[in-house]
Amino acid sequence: MRLGSLWGAGKLACAALLALTGQAALAKPAAPAKADLILYHGKFLTMDARGSVVQAVAVRDGRIVAVGSEAQMRRWAGAQTRMVDLKGQTVLPGFIDGHVHPQVAIRMKSYLDAHYSAIPTLQGMLAATRERAAATPAGEWVIVAGTSGNPNFWPEQRMPTKAELDAVGGGHPVLYVNGPHTWVVNTAGLEKMGVKPGAANQRGALIELDAAGNPTGVIREGGPLSPDARLPAELLQRYEMEDIPQLMLPLGYTSINDIMALPSYAAVRELAVSGRHPKIRKTITVFADSGGHHLPQDLAALKLPASVDPAWYRFGGIKIWADGDVPVRTGYLFGHYADEPDNHGLATNTQEELDALVAKVHAAGLGMFIHSTGDRSNVMVLDAYEKAQKAGGAKTLMRIEHLGEFMLGPQVLERTVKLGVQADIQPGWIWTLGEITRRNLGEDVARNHAFRFRTMIKAGLKPGFGTDMTGFQRGTENPFMHIEAMLTRKQKDGAVFLPEEAVSLDQALRVMTVWSARSMGEEAVKGSLEPGKFADMIVLSRDIAQTPPAEIHAITVRQTWVGGELVYSRP
Ligand SMILES: [Zn+2]
Repeated sequence: MRLGSLWGAGKLACAALLALTGQAALAKPAAPAKADLILYHGKFLTMDARGSVVQAVAVRDGRIVAVGSEAQMRRWAGAQTRMVDLKGQTVLPGFIDGHVHPQVAIRMKSYLDAHYSAIPTLQGMLAATRERAAATPAGEWVIVAGTSGNPNFWPEQRMPTKAELDAVGGGHPVLYVNGPHTWVVNTAGLEKMGVKPGAANQRGALIELDAAGNPTGVIREGGPLSPDARLPAELLQRYEMEDIPQLMLPLGYTSINDIMALPSYAAVRELAVSGRHPKIRKTITVFADSGGHHLPQDLAALKLPASVDPAWYRFGGIKIWADGDVPVRTGYLFGHYADEPDNHGLATNTQEELDALVAKVHAAGLGMFIHSTGDRSNVMVLDAYEKAQKAGGAKTLMRIEHLGEFMLGPQVLERTVKLGVQADIQPGWIWTLGEITRRNLGEDVARNHAFRFRTMIKAGLKPGFGTDMTGFQRGTENPFMHIEAMLTRKQKDGAVFLPEEAVSLDQALRVMTVWSARSMGEEAVKGSLEPGKFADMIVLSRDIAQTPPAEIHAITVRQTWVGGELVYSRP
């Protein structure tokens, strides 16, 4: 059912009822229509504005119709109402992953797993690649998933070279994916990708050349050249209907912003238009190349037709990367990286190019999701957003991905709040990337800029949450790990970073739910357990309010409900 038609039908029924019953209805309130479902004897943390905790929730047609005490909910019970006793368990609104790459995470399972926890050395990775190549049919790619984006986790502290991959590749094209942003490709692989000497940019992928102009094998932002850039439609639709819900629902995500490469969108769009959908709510955001230089001319044509039910599929807009990434010392800085006075990182666009791109997306009425990790990049993005707003037109969603994880910048918080720019954060990166961030930026800079979530919230920001799951980092898919990180500020080496920047449990849960909905422009229907919103909720293995912060990561999801339907139940 469509959102609009559901609301329309409800209004019509009310009007008809009033017309028929007239004064009688006013004198003695008519009994409300009965609920399809009542969940009772629970501890529901509703995440409404007052932070209400209730015992029971009534659901009709997939939406919450009332919340309150068990006695209050009993009025909604009829002969057909399904009653579910939650036996005192704690319930939250379903988590909203506002930034995730599930296609990549699922695809990655077919790669050779060379995460440092699986293969602890570079030499071991090369040996495993030789074995994988020997078992691969002639001419086919051997793809290796590397050390989660940072080769320093290996004792060799470096990536493999092209020559090393040639030596173990047995004639196969070999792609070593260090992380999503940096690859090493062997000679046969470069040939297969059509990489030619002297060409430093191919369809937006950045090819590293040596002094003689020959490709070294290192490719940055290589997405458009990926052997997986054009997966078959049937495969992508199977991911959509089966693998993605199987991956996300047990973790408690009931709604996700799936950020995908443009070529993958056609298959998902076809599915959405056909009326089929998985039992997880989806917003789709697309990207071409990192800088957005290869986007199609007609951006508005990317929107989903009005026939697609927005309860299940929405088109979010366009993702670009404004800079590199602070964890690999390419985020764009006013200053420089520690011990590298000449390294200020990189921007993918000039200010003029960025302004033009943002203006174009805004004029097309689409949301804009810009990855920005350095302070200088943040200022560039805010400048572009401000100019687009000043130019007029309908209000569109403008967001900064990863804002304040690594860096803020001059007036960045004040301007973000003032312009109504949204932020999406990955709090668990304190755990995975806290230590490397402090090394990359230097301790003083890091303390002034990195992971200052309490300061951000105090300034008026209501950041939303994203796992940014690609499969390359381990553990970041777990929502409870992110909650714990916001409370404990613990790095994986055991150090605690800026404990004074810890947020309250209530704030942490808002980041995961209602603020995440808000940062997607979806707060009218998602993110809290309130009448009118979708009946999307999760039952926890433990009362999170009574759990010591250091144990929160071990909480699990027992049940996931989407639209009042039990879509996952832990065996
Ligand atoms: Zn991402």
